[in-house]
Amino acid sequence: MGVITSDSGGGGDRRAIVRALASEPTKTFAGLSQGGACMLCGETIKPDEVEYEFENAALTITVDVNCYETVAQEMAEARRAAEAAATAACIRVTG
Ligand SMILES: [Zn+2]
Repeated sequence: MGVITSDSGGGGDRRAIVRALASEPTKTFAGLSQGGACMLCGETIKPDEVEYEFENAALTITVDVNCYETVAQEMAEARRAAEAAATAACIRVTG
């Protein structure tokens, strides 16, 4: 997938990324950084630090530990909201 740019500095991009991650089954990998940058905050992940990778059909992003916790939490909330909406729709259908 393409590179995600974050020159706006706002939270809009991150929300779009989280939505894209929450909308598909997403695998998470943890590993040692090879000196790349976090794709959300742009900070360099030092080679001896852990980096996290979210991967699904829509996109793959590499983040540092701080952003990992934020994204994981926001993904859980987005999934919960989606499930609540699906449950509501189901109740309406079954009467
Ligand atoms: Zn980050």
